[in-house]
Amino acid sequence: MTRNDELTRRDLSVVWHPCTQMKDHERLPMIPIRRGEGVWLEDFDGNRYIDAVSSWWVNLFGHANPHINQVIRDQLDQLEHVILAGFTHEPVIRLSEKLVNITPPGLSRCFYADNGSSAVEVALKMSFHYWLNRGQRKKTRFMCLSNSYHGETLGALAVGDVALYKETYKPLLMQPITIEGPDCYHREPGESCEQVAERQFRHMEQALAEHAHETCAVIVEPLVQCAGSMRMYHPRYLTLLREACDRHGVHLIADEIAVGFGRTGTMFACEQAGISPDFMCLSKGLTGGYLPLSAVLTTEEVYQAFYDEYDKLSAFLHSHSYTGNALACAAALGTLDLFEREDVIGNNRRLAAVMAEALAPFKDHPHVADVRQTGMIAAVEMVKDKAVRTPYPWQERRGLKIYQHALSRGALLRPLGNVSYLMPPYVITEEQIRFLVQVMGEGIDLATGAG
Ligand SMILES: *Cc1c(COP(=O)(O)O)cnc(C)c1O
Repeated sequence: MTRNDELTRRDLSVVWHPCTQMKDHERLPMIPIRRGEGVWLEDFDGNRYIDAVSSWWVNLFGHANPHINQVIRDQLDQLEHVILAGFTHEPVIRLSEKLVNITPPGLSRCFYADNGSSAVEVALKMSFHYWLNRGQRKKTRFMCLSNSYHGETLGALAVGDVALYKETYKPLLMQPITIEGPDCYHREPGESCEQVAERQFRHMEQALAEHAHETCAVIVEPLVQCAGSMRMYHPRYLTLLREACDRHGVHLIADEIAVGFGRTGTMFACEQAGISPDFMCLSKGLTGGYLPLSAVLTTEEVYQAFYDEYDKLSAFLHSHSYTGNALACAAALGTLDLFEREDVIGNNRRLAAVMAEALAPFKDHPHVADVRQTGMIAAVEMVKDKAVRTPYPWQERRGLKIYQHALSRGALLRPLGNVSYLMPPYVITEEQIRFLVQVMGEGIDLATGAG
């Protein structure tokens, strides 16, 4: 029995894995990872895999990054954690100062939680509570976009629209107002993504006109709906949305949990639309993929609506045990150091161009309907019939064939249904990108029976 086999056996007798039908592991191998370095993951039998999905979109500067490691080690010798109510610590102060500096103008206050879903819960509750504190008791609902994803806890799940995750729990969820979104996959022949954004915005305008009086906020994932099959849209939609939210007196929540910290080609996706949201949710890349932490940034206007005498009961009485954990804040500071020291955004532009060039030939593949990219996120969508974009039935699990092939070639390419994508750590090389694209191509041929 190899070390991999031994650990797998022990794992499968006690661990229940996330987002997994555990029965799949009767035939799919579990991969126990011993160590990571840069883009590489190494298992217990010595096999190595390029982490092309940044370990679920969290890793930015590679595994075991020497600088982030050192910053965490230094913090560990000082303070691992302290209650953040009534107490504070230097990493959380420094991190908040930095986040206020680098996020879009107007965001001046940081509230912390410990994962993305919790950040979304915080933003939803804060928005509702803001309107309540301002005497607007009718505002109790939220608007979201079709195909959106904001996390798995009940509030976050409710404002999402990915049926696979949501449908089962519907009886438990609040009812949002779901607006047909600006997904550029649905463009007409000859239509640009900008035109799709403008065309689709009328649904939002209509909904706001009808529902603004009962709506706290519109929540969106700026530019890329990652869990929603990496569907993408034009920044114009966000510019229009910001203007309309102001006009109708509704908050705008930007969920940049997946797209923040350079993924889309700018530090934050909202920058490409030149907008500032009322709430910005950050997590995933915030700590460079090291430790669980999330932040909700908001405005002075929102902060002041909660600021009063204790007996007015207007405070935001929300907390998590590990809110603003010192080690996690240190990891975030180490990550932001790397953005300050190197021209990460400029370097990513070069890597993104390599991805675009390498993926371009897939457009001619008989079973590829769409090759799309926003900055460091690139996706290839497979279909059964290219002419009319008939999707492969989900039961066929075509993407899984790419996943299995990639593992055999030393790459972690975890698909989203019929969509295969690259969202690599920023320390990847051009050569490694070309290798991943080659492996993806082989996988697509295998999965579509065209090879
Ligand atoms: C991952 C994700 C979340 C949820 O974050 P968790 O840390 O997994 O709870 C929320 N919104 C978006 C856009 C995400 O990609």
